[in-house]
Amino acid sequence: MSEESKETKLIRQLDRMFHDHCVVMQAAWIEWKHGKGADAAMQWIENTLDGPGMIPSDDEPWATEAQAYYDANRSEPFPQCYCGRPSHIAHMSEGYCCDEHYRIGSAKAKDSPATAREGG
Ligand SMILES: [Zn+2]
Repeated sequence: MSEESKETKLIRQLDRMFHDHCVVMQAAWIEWKHGKGADAAMQWIENTLDGPGMIPSDDEPWATEAQAYYDANRSEPFPQCYCGRPSHIAHMSEGYCCDEHYRIGSAKAKDSPATAREGG
């Protein structure tokens, strides 16, 4: 029997963590659509965050705005919008927090190839 390398063990552990986080979100969605509703579904999410102490505290930046919190804390954030807010719209190496700021910012850079969006 061959011994797994440290890298293989780490990849396996990260894969399991990612898998379980996806399954928690799926279970929450099932609870919402077919079970006891949205509040019960959120219990799945809260339990997952509470264990490792990951419930955002109210004084954390953007902790009361879901989209901005996601935009600021995702693994590879887009560049900050010119207004200072986190962005979820990327265009020509610039980031924008909303459609209005995207329209204003992208009007300055006339030609418009690919635009990317992430989040809800
Ligand atoms: Zn903005």
